[in-house]
Parts: sequence; C-alpha cells; structure tokens
Amino acid sequence: MTTDNPTLDTPTPTSLKPADAPIEQEPIVMLGSPMAIVDGVSFSSGDNWTNLANTLSAQPERLFYPNTLEDLQVIIREATENKKKVRCVGNGHSWSGTAITQDYMVSINGMNKIEKPIQGENGEWTVTIEMGVEVKELDEFLRKHDPPLALASNVMPTDIRYGGILTMGCHGAGLDGRTVSDTLTEITIVNAYGELHIYSEADDPEAFNIASINLGLLGIVYTATLKLVPMSNYRLRAIDSYGSLADYFEGPRAGLKWKEMVERNDSTEILYWPHSTFLGTERNDRFWLKQWRRTLALAEDLEKLKDQAPSVDHPAFAAFKAGDIVKEIPDGIHFGITQEGEGIGEAKIYDASAGFKLAPDFSNFVECFNDLVEKNYAFSTSEFPSRIGTCLEVRFIKASRKMMSFVYDGEDEKAIYCMINVLGARETPGFVEYSQGVLGGWMDKYNAKPHWAKLWEQIPGVIPALRREYEDRLAVLNRVRKTQDPFDMFVNDTWRPLLE
Ligand SMILES: Cc1cc2nc3c(=O)[nH]c(=O)nc-3n(C[C@H](O)[C@H](O)[C@H](O)COP(=O)(O)OP(=O)(O)OC[C@H]3O[C@@H](n4cnc5c(N)ncnc54)[C@H](O)[C@@H]3O)c2cc1C
Repeated sequence: MTTDNPTLDTPTPTSLKPADAPIEQEPIVMLGSPMAIVDGVSFSSGDNWTNLANTLSAQPERLFYPNTLEDLQVIIREATENKKKVRCVGNGHSWSGTAITQDYMVSINGMNKIEKPIQGENGEWTVTIEMGVEVKELDEFLRKHDPPLALASNVMPTDIRYGGILTMGCHGAGLDGRTVSDTLTEITIVNAYGELHIYSEADDPEAFNIASINLGLLGIVYTATLKLVPMSNYRLRAIDSYGSLADYFEGPRAGLKWKEMVERNDSTEILYWPHSTFLGTERNDRFWLKQWRRTLALAEDLEKLKDQAPSVDHPAFAAFKAGDIVKEIPDGIHFGITQEGEGIGEAKIYDASAGFKLAPDFSNFVECFNDLVEKNYAFSTSEFPSRIGTCLEVRFIKASRKMMSFVYDGEDEKAIYCMINVLGARETPGFVEYSQGVLGGWMDKYNAKPHWAKLWEQIPGVIPALRREYEDRLAVLNRVRKTQDPFDMFVNDTWRPLLE
C-alpha cells in the first residue's frame, strides 16, 4: 500500500532556519536522476518535486514527460501493469496536495498545442488547447489571430497552465466570468482504461458538468475547448482608488453600496494590507479598490506604466501598478504583471481562499470583511515583524454552473459570490493555523467553500464538513468517476477522504 501524503513544510522564519537546513531548492522539478524511456515516453525516478511556493514536496517513483496523446496512453498502461496511482502536475502553483502521488506524477508541460480558433454557426468563437498550454501562450496566440480574441475572464497570473485552471475550477475577477470551466464547450480525458473520452453538453450533460471541474479524478485531461470573445467587442478601463475602510465598510447601507458597485463593473477587486507601509507599524485605514468597466475607447500604451514606481511597497506585490488606464482584455485581467513578464506568479506566498453566497444586501460580506480586517491585524502585529507579510484580497463572481465548483449554486445561477483570499509570505510563522482557522469560521457561519487548489486541507473538521455540503454532488462525481476509473488510479490522499 502506498501513501501519497505530501510533506507540508511548516513555515519557518528564514532567520530561524537551522544552520544545517537544506539549501533552498529550485521549485517544480529536480532533474537529478538519469532519464529513462518507456515506449518513447521519458521519465525520471525518485527526483524531488516541490511546488512553486516550496511548501510541498514529493519523491514520485516516476515523473513522466509526455508530449502526445499516445504518450498519455503509455503512462496509463504502465500504471495499470504496475498498479500505480497517477496524478498530473502543471506549474505547481497549488498549495493543496492535489498534484501529489508517490507513484507516477505526469508533467503535462510538453502538451501545449493550440488549434486554430473556430467560429460556430452562432457566431461564437472557440479554441481547443492541450492542457500544458500556459495562460500567456494562449493570450499571445489569440492576440495575433485575425480577428484578435481573448478569454473574457481568467486567473490573474499568466504562468499557470490550463490543466490546473480547469481541473481545480479556477476563476478571475470578472463578475460574469464565473469560473474558467464555465466557458468550456468540450473536454477530452484519457481514463483509467487508456481510452480517450469526449465530454460535451449535448452528449451527456451530467458527465460533462463533472468533467468540467473534475479535480483530476476522471483521468488525464488531454484537451479542452473554451469560449472566446473578439477583442474588438470591448476593452477594460481600470479604475484604481484608495478607499477608507470607514467610508466603505461602516453604516447601514455599506453592503448595498458594494452591491451597486459590483453589479455596475465588469470586475471589482479589493487588496488590503494591515499596515500603511511595508515595515511600518501604523495601522492601515485604507484599502486598494480596483474596478474595471467595459469601454469602446481605444487601449492606451502600457509603456506609460513602465517606469511608474510600484503602487505597493510590499516586495511580494510590487508588480501591481495603479492607474486609470484603458487596456485590452488580457492586459486588464493580468494587471499584476510587469512589462518584463514578472509578477505575482513568482511570489513565494501562501494563499487560503474560500467563497460564499452574498446576501441580497451584501451585509454578510461587509460583516465578514470587517471581522477579517480585525483578525488579520491582530495576527500580523502579534509577533512583529515576522508576521507583517499578510494581505487580504476579494473578488466577486456569479455562481458557477459546475457541480464541483466552490461557488456552485443549483438554485440561483445569477447569485453573486465573494471569493476572499488570506495571503501571507511563506515565512510567516503560524500562517497556516491562522488562515485555516479563519476559513473554518466562514464555513460554519457563511457556508463558505474553500478553493480546491489553495490551502484547505488543514482546516479543522474540513472533511466531514465538505462531505456534508457536497454530499449529493460527490455522489454524482463518484457515479461518473466509477465509469472512468473503477480502480481509483487517480485518487490520491487529498481526495480519498472526500470520496470514501
Ligand atoms: C501567485 C498565484 C496566483 C494565483 N491566482 C489565482 C487566481 O487568480 N485565480 C484562481 O482561481 N487561482 C489562482 N491561483 C491558483 C492556481 O490557479 C491553481 O493553483 C492552479 O491549479 C495552478 O495551475 P498549475 O499549472 O500550477 O497546476 P498545478 O498546481 O501543478 O496542478 C493543479 C492541479 O491540476 C491537476 N492537473 C493539471 N493538469 C492536469 C491534466 N492534464 N489532467 C488532470 N489533472 C491535471 C493536477 O493534478 C493538480 O491536481 C494562483 C496561484 C498562485 C501561485
């Protein structure tokens, strides 16, 4: 019996690391051991894999590097013959142990083909991609297309791969964007028999729904077809302001004012640091409000932002640039990326995030955020300065139609959810316990559900709570899953407790 338990390194302040602590590793993949080949598919054995934040590690028996559909089928055949678990891995941006197995890990980074976009009879554009495609690769490809195209909403960083985005139900800040998986029209997955299964709404709505956010449990996702918008339809005007907490979060109409703003905007986002300056102790009474509105005005030259001083003096977030500027859709979405392509994606941070449905007057959001600001300040100042590197971030999105989404709403698909992120520099001592306690409180009070790719496995009592909340949906997932993977080939220690 193998165990897939990842090693979760408890954060340790750099200065407190013992003298014989291992030298910081390069993240993602260590190509230390010689490569071997089976039927044309290369793999390494026993190498140390770590995620981007260097908070998780694993030493899989084999780490495969496929390039084609046939390569994926060879890997499944090998796993069947040797009775091994299989989990895929993209750029290792996740904080939960979802990518980890000690058996066979599959780096999907070599699977990065993009097909020519197609315009359907209804005029709608779609593109089919392999799962190793990075956000920036698809953005650049679609910009050069005639006509230029884009995804209407997406994750903020550009160095994340679509396998990770779609299997985990990731999302951007676009209110109507829901999750990226909500824009799927078709998805193909190689199952535990080595067969390529094609899922679409027309063929089997229930199976397609589950396949759209499948948590990597139906097999290795090969391709996905995503809906696009022509870039000429609109651009995004970014409006930045520094609001006072008192003005926006106090008074009986506070929630309704947020609601009016969120419904008017394409996207709305909040960023908040507990102290006014990075190393200062003064409590911050202002937050950064980011709004995007759709406009037909022409995009402005991004070079204007190039030499602008960072809007935020926290080193982990220095790529964020403020400015009232009209941007093409992808530039608006990926606002935290510098001209040189560096950005938040490089940050060595922890992130715990959860979403919940907003009350008709948004009062539960106002209550939750006010409480979080207090808790975060208390945490950040309690061991000054080692805990200063925290940040709060909020986005608003409409409910997902996909059952395994953390913002799924089977009753009201127009419902608006908030996704609140509690972020902390990786070295922040006590951050895991703190953030997981906070999320546990939201689960009890607001029926919040944690983001699958972020920190959630350490929330006290999380498994029984999730099993209770997702009960009917887990039953559907299991029904579909058992037709594709009766051997539990794709079930690791992150998912087993939920599925049993
Ligand atoms: C700085 C930063 C910013 C972020 N911003 C956002 C954001 O704006 N919105 C958001 O929702 N999330 C965000 N995230 C989370 C991120 O989007 C997810 O962690 C995403 O899954 C990472 O993709 P990846 O390529 O790194 O995949 P990995 O972390 O390597 O893998 C994630 C999961 O995808 C599975 N997988 C990958 N490919 C396949 C495949 N072909 N078949 C089956 N399973 C597969 C893996 O098995 C694993 O379970 C952010 C993360 C970071 C570090």
